[in-house]
Amino acid sequence: MKRVAILGSTGSVGRQALDVVRCSEGLLGVHSLVCFGNLDRLLQQAMEFRPEVTAILSPTGREPGWVSTGPASIREAVEGADLVLNAISGSAGLDASLLCQELGLQLALANKESLVVGGELLHAHLTSGSVIPVDSEHSTIHRCMAGEGIRPLGITLTASGGALRDLPLEEAAAATAEVVLRHPTWSMGARITVDSASLVNKAFEVIEARWLFPGIPVSTVVHPQSVVHSLLRLADGSFKAILGTPDMRIPIQYALLGRKTEPLLVAEDSPLDWPKLDFLQVDPDRFPAFALVCEAGERGEGLPSAANGADEVAVEAFLGGRILFGAIPLVIERVLDDFRPRTIREPADVFEADREARLKARAIVEDLA
Ligand code: MG
Repeated sequence: MKRVAILGSTGSVGRQALDVVRCSEGLLGVHSLVCFGNLDRLLQQAMEFRPEVTAILSPTGREPGWVSTGPASIREAVEGADLVLNAISGSAGLDASLLCQELGLQLALANKESLVVGGELLHAHLTSGSVIPVDSEHSTIHRCMAGEGIRPLGITLTASGGALRDLPLEEAAAATAEVVLRHPTWSMGARITVDSASLVNKAFEVIEARWLFPGIPVSTVVHPQSVVHSLLRLADGSFKAILGTPDMRIPIQYALLGRKTEPLLVAEDSPLDWPKLDFLQVDPDRFPAFALVCEAGERGEGLPSAANGADEVAVEAFLGGRILFGAIPLVIERVLDDFRPRTIREPADVFEADREARLKARAIVEDLA
């Protein structure tokens, strides 16, 4: 039995990972459960899975004595695990990824911010092959590359285009949180659903792909059906892809069980379910934040951290009804314009870049609100 530390167990990916454990017929066990602040759900999960360590990062004050609290409990939770699933939300997940590197622990990475803001710092763990992506697009590329003898030429990430894809531009810019949160194909957390509609999520995934698959050019197409989970182009000109109805449990299962195990969770799809598969260019007028964040990724030097911090603040303000959807790219653009590039040598550099970006973003949001 592989014993998994599940960081972010009460979130969308964490809950689907527990589904995978339930279906694994004893191949997977839960070593530890860590959540941010949802104590009630955490306690329910602990009753069912009986982990060695149960921890909450932001305690409510109602914790029973056997629940560990505070940031130091992450170390307690990952020590002794065979594999760590990092499904913590946002840049707060970087610490946990760095800890896995320090302790030499296999990392199933659902927290893309770890690579977006701190790819430089995770270089050793990446090159040792200890990071398995959980993000569906990267999981696809990982699977397509495994055992493939022909040299890869390029990666094409697919983007659904989010909930606002077909709205007139002015309507999209003024869309409310309620409309944006109705994602057409994937079921995910709130921030990532907003980031899907702005394509900021896809730009983060471009950065993530560069760290996971260095030296391979990355491009993006809009693919509204979300059936093709990304494509790998090979040196003989052919494309490899994985197709299926969107279900995050499939990449989670692959990351936790690996490709040598017979999967237990099986999607019941037929190609007849997909009579039409469209691929479209990314429209820069509809998705202005996409190019901004991709460019920040190419430049590096803390700019991806700044873009991420600005986006988190902007999305929070949007979800709280304080700014319009169309203002999100504006906040990111102004933060990046003012940001002073710096070399990322240690976690403190990332956190300082993040702190400065958030401060600036909050001031811009105040201006716009
Ligand atoms: Mg993804």
